[in-house]
Amino acid sequence: MDMVDPARTALTDAFGRRISYLRISVTDRCDLRCRYCMAERMQFLPKNQVLTLEEIALLADLFISRGVRRIRLTGGEPLVRRDIVDLVHRIGRHLGGGLDEVTLTTNGTRLAQHAQALTDAGVRRINVSLDSRDPDRFADVTRGGDVRAVIDGLDAARAAGLSVKINMVALRGVNEDEILPMLHWCDRQGFDLTLIETMPLGETGEDRTDHYLPLTQVAESIRRHHALSPVAHRTGGPARYHAVQGLKVRLGLITPLTHNFCSDCNRMRMTCEGKIFMCLGHEDHVDLKTALREGGLAAVEPLIDRALRLKPARHDFRIGPGVSAAVQRHMSVTGG
Ligand code: SAM
Ligand code: SF4
Repeated sequence: MDMVDPARTALTDAFGRRISYLRISVTDRCDLRCRYCMAERMQFLPKNQVLTLEEIALLADLFISRGVRRIRLTGGEPLVRRDIVDLVHRIGRHLGGGLDEVTLTTNGTRLAQHAQALTDAGVRRINVSLDSRDPDRFADVTRGGDVRAVIDGLDAARAAGLSVKINMVALRGVNEDEILPMLHWCDRQGFDLTLIETMPLGETGEDRTDHYLPLTQVAESIRRHHALSPVAHRTGGPARYHAVQGLKVRLGLITPLTHNFCSDCNRMRMTCEGKIFMCLGHEDHVDLKTALREGGLAAVEPLIDRALRLKPARHDFRIGPGVSAAVQRHMSVTGG
């Protein structure tokens, strides 16, 4: 594809924010059913509604030509998609030619099979979600997952030279007591750790209010053991990083509820159906799949400009009695 003049076509929203980071949910399917993310019996999309590898790759080409410099593949679980490594190869062709990095967020259950192939395709860092290292607790939070598979996946990732950040959703009464041990474990393993507040996205059959744990509180209890000092390190996402006194691990905090980070948001998200959502917390979107299938890339471009105008100033998540799903769409659909 011809590269387009970036100064003329850069993706800038109505509030002057430059969009340089695209998250692509490559599938809504998953082999786990984390309680805060999905319902036990999820209805998944029929295959013909999901973008093909070629469609995702074409859209990625277009976004890169408009100034996107980072792409994160997510889901659902990206590694349950059979052609995932081919897709990474296809997108990875832009590395060093417009694209700075292609990364992945995964639950890690199939990482042992794929880690080396991902490295070979150009991935350098991955985020792996791990809410507990205790086998029973992990099985409970994920409704049936095997933590051993994730630990094996992490070993394979390290052996393949991938740098790893662990994502842990902080859940009151579930894994609160594991946060400090997880920080120490990540330090020993050479991983970074990011803690995430539960967001009210999609019904899961459970009340999130009960398990919502503000990270302001968590940071306070970590500070009783280690001083935390903010560092400039950024990875393009919403995490704010801290150096942890006495340890090498960096601690990231994603605080959509206690500290809004929208003013410097640089992200847009594409679902596996080709819908562009400009914000996790809003329903406004444009549908690129229909445009692409009916009119080709020429029909897609004006929709991207429309999407930019739709980007809101901020999300307005709240959590509390009776508000456990502010947005009906699950995180697994929009892509975490
Ligand atoms: N399956 C992959 C995984 O678990 O890493 C990628 C998709 S998952 C939706 C991406 C991230 O979103 C995970 O770290 C998960 O813990 C987080 N997540 C899912 N639902 C969430 C929610 N309601 N609030 C906060 N984080 C959530
Ligand atoms: Fe699957 Fe990730 Fe959602 Fe857990 S958080 S159910 S692993 S998509």
